[in-house]
Amino acid sequence: MEQQRVAIVTGAARGIGAAIARRLASDGLAVAVLDLDGASTVDTVSAIVSAGGRAIGVGADVSVADAVEQAVAQVTEELGAPTVLVNNAGILRDNLIFKMTDDDWDAVVAVHLRGAFLMTRAVQRHQVAAGWGRIVSLSSTSALGNRGQANYAAVKAGLQGLTKTLALELGRYNVTANAIAPGFIATDMLRATADRMKVPYEQFLEGAAKEIPVGRVGQPDDIAAAASFFCSEEASFISGQVLYVAGGPKA
Ligand code: NAP
Repeated sequence: MEQQRVAIVTGAARGIGAAIARRLASDGLAVAVLDLDGASTVDTVSAIVSAGGRAIGVGADVSVADAVEQAVAQVTEELGAPTVLVNNAGILRDNLIFKMTDDDWDAVVAVHLRGAFLMTRAVQRHQVAAGWGRIVSLSSTSALGNRGQANYAAVKAGLQGLTKTLALELGRYNVTANAIAPGFIATDMLRATADRMKVPYEQFLEGAAKEIPVGRVGQPDDIAAAASFFCSEEASFISGQVLYVAGGPKA
């Protein structure tokens, strides 16, 4: 029997990460559901296991080098060498530039950019050894600029540069790197934005849907479908790309 591929999905306790973890498991991969607090991964792991898949929960802060090394070692030990990585963990610290604190800036850079760097550096070792791999990083339509998100827009654009460079460096090992740039996806992250703007969540979603050509907001499964494609065997000639998944051509 062909060996089962092993994936790590970061920030997979909930939201988009949880949907990607479930989708990759249903595609036949063993999945490490990584999140800040290992206990928070229970729901995603049990959803996968009860659907007949293979998964473990791993607690780690992706912005801390030692924690990342330990997490990847644990996955290798318990599931096998990881060759699929989805850099999804993320936080928001929105503020207009004149009110943005050093901490707002540093925290967002640490999780999204440093986190993706550390995770990728740790996992690519296994990909290069296997002569096969898939890296998918979550960018955003905010990479094109978004009011109140100087920190977030900068890191989401940065992840696109990281993706293209990984595609150049790792292509020779049959490792592809691609980014997904979601538009408006209904998750807790957006609920927090609605709360901050003091707009009821349902009203926030309705307002957003009116601006989206397909007439609805996105769901985590819309992003999971794109991730599944990039991670598939047949996507082996697609690398260094950014796919905007936003219900229309504009961010
Ligand atoms: P979410 O519901 O807030 O989930 C993010 C997950 O990441 C949470 O489980 C969170 O854990 C975890 N996390 C945060 N910091 C971490 C760290 N240092 N180490 C490990 N895990 C960490 O967010 P989402 O909406 O699903 O977003 C997922 C990704 O898609 C993010 O990169 C986001 O920027 C991107 N994205 C989202 C949208 C959207 O509309 N929702 C649009 C474009 C891009 P805790 O719960 O413990 O904090």
